[in-house]
Amino acid sequence: MYRKNAWLKYKDQKEVMNFAEGYKNFISVAKSERIAVKEAEKLLKANGFKNVDDLKSLKEGDRVYFINKKKNVAAFIIGSEPLEKGLRILGAHIDSPRLDLKEHPIYEAKGFALGDTHYYGGVKKYQWVTIPLALVGVVCKKDGSTVEVNIGDDPKDPVVGISDLLIHLAADQLQKSGAKVIEGENLDITLGSMPLNEEDKEPVKANVLKLLKDKYGFEEEDLVSAEIEVVPAGPARDYGLDRSMIAGYGHDDRSCAYTSLMALLDTKKVKNTACCILVDKEEIGSVGATGAQSLFFENAIAKLAALVGDNHPLWTARLAMENSKMLSSDVSAGYDPLYASVSDTKNVAYLGEGLVFNKYTGARGKSGCNDSMPEYYAFIRKAMDDAKVNWQSAELGKVDQGGGGTIAYILGNYNMLVIDAGIPVLNMHAPMEIVSKVDVYEAYLGYKAFLVA
Ligand code: MN
Ligand code: MN
Repeated sequence: MYRKNAWLKYKDQKEVMNFAEGYKNFISVAKSERIAVKEAEKLLKANGFKNVDDLKSLKEGDRVYFINKKKNVAAFIIGSEPLEKGLRILGAHIDSPRLDLKEHPIYEAKGFALGDTHYYGGVKKYQWVTIPLALVGVVCKKDGSTVEVNIGDDPKDPVVGISDLLIHLAADQLQKSGAKVIEGENLDITLGSMPLNEEDKEPVKANVLKLLKDKYGFEEEDLVSAEIEVVPAGPARDYGLDRSMIAGYGHDDRSCAYTSLMALLDTKKVKNTACCILVDKEEIGSVGATGAQSLFFENAIAKLAALVGDNHPLWTARLAMENSKMLSSDVSAGYDPLYASVSDTKNVAYLGEGLVFNKYTGARGKSGCNDSMPEYYAFIRKAMDDAKVNWQSAELGKVDQGGGGTIAYILGNYNMLVIDAGIPVLNMHAPMEIVSKVDVYEAYLGYKAFLVA
């Protein structure tokens, strides 16, 4: 059903609200890509999926997953058709904009211990000050052990944060442009203010290091080989008096990741092998071993081919990619009446109208986008309408207002059919993003319908 408010479809909203509870729990815990992978693995195991490392062969109906370097997961249900007939792929990303601790982060300044950060992805820096922040990640030690750090999400934990200038003294600061009002190098988190003893040259820093050593057993130098992300503290919450929306961190793109994964988990028999892949590094260009550009996915499909007994798994993997159909499950800009001027109201996503398809994203003259085939779009329209899914079509803002990209073009390079399909978001990339619960549910239904279309 094209461009209809999806709430009106439901007599009581129970199934929508119940699904939203599961999603809220997921994003409240999965604050980093590593935790998202762990949570995904729990869900996969609970739904009959097996780790590929534990299998010697595969056959129709088998459920299997691959984990790549703890930050990227691909799960499959083997179809009745041979792999070279192509897969149905749902692909989303599980990294979100944030601040990362630098390799040598901790310093002392006039009675404070501070932590220096480097922002990750596109952020409006002024949004990240004076809010409670948490630290999540890992510290990897020379002895081969890894320490997991998670401070600030448990209500009993302390939080950290970034200070901003008081309004009384902000005359000069407020003359600066929005891009400069908070500088990237000023996004340093406050870690403490209590000295350890009188003898230390940097007594507050010494105290913070002692606390970390006592609780986690690592030294300052171990932070060189660490991955600690500074993220908004606290759980996702219902938003709006009617509880129709969810306020939370990381809807981009964990809302599409969760719904894509749930769609696969709730699918039984398939003709074409069904897949959900969750990638890292989308927010910085899909680069590296765990990003969408990695050979991991191609290798995983080759391994599937080998495990089903194919004699030419590499070539079969190529054919499988070429004949696949994919939804690039990524969020879209929701229409915000406070900022109406950036959108063409005919071609924008509205909260409540369901799963959004973007034929193309990109910037300027569609630069950097995957401009989807209209033949494929027609196939998708039929699949959505046959399954009575509420869906809409949109562009990312008015022409020349800006732009953005997804992983769609990267999979498109394998010569597969790809279209962007996701959930509309307000405040995208802010510490508190907003989605509509009914769009989350329609996305789940739409993804599920696609896997068997
Ligand atoms: Mn995204
Ligand atoms: Mn993004």
